[in-house]
Amino acid sequence: MEHMNPAAVSRSDTRSSRPCDFCREFDPRFLERSAPDQMVATGRKHTASAHLTEDGYVRHRVLELSRIASRTPSTAA
Ligand SMILES: [Zn+2]
Repeated sequence: MEHMNPAAVSRSDTRSSRPCDFCREFDPRFLERSAPDQMVATGRKHTASAHLTEDGYVRHRVLELSRIASRTPSTAA
């Protein structure tokens, strides 16, 4: 009765957190982070404040800001 999908179980033991989709997509050095710095709390949106660590939070913010900066036309000349 306790039959569980082994793939689902062994996938990770981080049931309360998961990698941040935003950072994974936009940070080319995402995999260089330590594991906790990659994670956001499950059930939260993939925002900076959902990150579990200060470093993760900061990196997420930097990514956001750099994206905004690259989008925003700097003083349309
Ligand atoms: Zn993130």
